[in-house]
Amino acid sequence: MDYTKFDLIVVGAGFYGATVAERAASENKKVLVIDRREHLAGNAYSYKDEKTGIEIHKYGSHIFHTEDEEVWNYITKFTEFNDYIHTVPTRHAGKLYPMPINLDTINLLYGTNMDAEEAEKFVASEAEKAGIKNPKNFEEKGISLVGEKLYTTFIKNYSEKQWSTSATNLSAEILSRIPVRYSHDDRYFMTAKHQGIPVNGYGKIVEKMLDNENIEVKLGVDFIAIMDEIPNDKPIIYCGQVDELLDYELGVLPYRSLRFEAEWVDETTEEGADSKLGHAVINEADADVAYTRTHFYKYYQIHEPEVIKQPKSYVVREYPADFKRGGEAYYPINNEENEKLYNDYVKLLSERYPSIMLGGRLGAYQYWDMDKAIKNALEFYKNLTI
Ligand SMILES: Cc1cc2nc3c(=O)[nH]c(=O)nc-3n(C[C@H](O)[C@H](O)[C@H](O)COP(=O)(O)OP(=O)(O)OC[C@H]3O[C@@H](n4cnc5c(N)ncnc54)[C@H](O)[C@@H]3O)c2cc1C
Repeated sequence: MDYTKFDLIVVGAGFYGATVAERAASENKKVLVIDRREHLAGNAYSYKDEKTGIEIHKYGSHIFHTEDEEVWNYITKFTEFNDYIHTVPTRHAGKLYPMPINLDTINLLYGTNMDAEEAEKFVASEAEKAGIKNPKNFEEKGISLVGEKLYTTFIKNYSEKQWSTSATNLSAEILSRIPVRYSHDDRYFMTAKHQGIPVNGYGKIVEKMLDNENIEVKLGVDFIAIMDEIPNDKPIIYCGQVDELLDYELGVLPYRSLRFEAEWVDETTEEGADSKLGHAVINEADADVAYTRTHFYKYYQIHEPEVIKQPKSYVVREYPADFKRGGEAYYPINNEENEKLYNDYVKLLSERYPSIMLGGRLGAYQYWDMDKAIKNALEFYKNLTI
């Protein structure tokens, strides 16, 4: 391939890479976008099941939400969003409770009928009762914040599943606060000015962003396999893992990963009854349920009542998993040691490949929501000279 004709090469067709490519193309730059996956939109990718009309989120539920007007004005050039407002009940002993913990969660769990003021005093007294002044680990911190019962029921098991270790082994610093609302508000993204699900799915958004005569897209291509063919001075935005790019020379950057188990169910049968509850996601708080979340994607499609009404449902169970070199990297483990390793890699990269710039959540070794990935890409492009 003749790489000299491009002004910019973008590795990764997720929201970050797509935003940089789209901005550059809008200023008449020639851009090559490559991704080793066979689809666009990175981890946010979703596609429609033709038979049922259900939009399947390939890498777990993605709900768009933002407080940033620039991001909202930008993304809505490429899609409409429905009016979905995210709520996530959590299941304990077969019963659903609002999450984050609110007044209803507290009253349901304790079998009480407290008002906001009473509940606030009650939770404070439960926390006080535990008598933990200097929490030494996650568990002690959790109990010191909301008391033993709320912590044990809703936080302990879920977190132990997520981290695959006992809460007493986890650092107290991971848990800076446990949000408790003394109201009936059960919106998950309480401060989001805008939220919703794109009416034609996430794959179609990125397809539209990259639909430009200045952009060429190559899917199923691993940059690492072709990087030697690219001229040294070509600006490259790399939205992959820097440790992988440098062949793990300094070691593996740690992540947590996930495993998804999916099945089609019929809601008219006993097996499909769970889906009839009508929630898009249910958190699983109990220790004897190995997965952390169950997803019922069709309930995101509130703009398509016919999809929701039909009896078929695509159910996905989400299991936390250890991350192994070469596996799917989902959540970076951002502690001091890992940050140092990351910074060492950044230095090494700039010495060895000065024309490669890191971008996206993987390149930055950060967890970013989609709006943050877009915002950071917009900012990055504003400062880029090519
Ligand atoms: C389980 C889960 C649920 C989430 N839910 C939400 C949500 O509800 N709302 C929200 O706002 N955000 C959510 N996110 C975050 C969201 O997925 C990210 O913000 C978004 O994907 C970031 O986009 P990106 O472009 O930075 O990275 P990515 O989407 O990861 O894209 C990077 C791309 O680079 C490609 N790539 C990497 N290395 C190479 C290589 N060597 N050669 C070629 N291609 C390469 C990858 O294949 C990938 O497609 C969730 C994340 C996870 C893990």
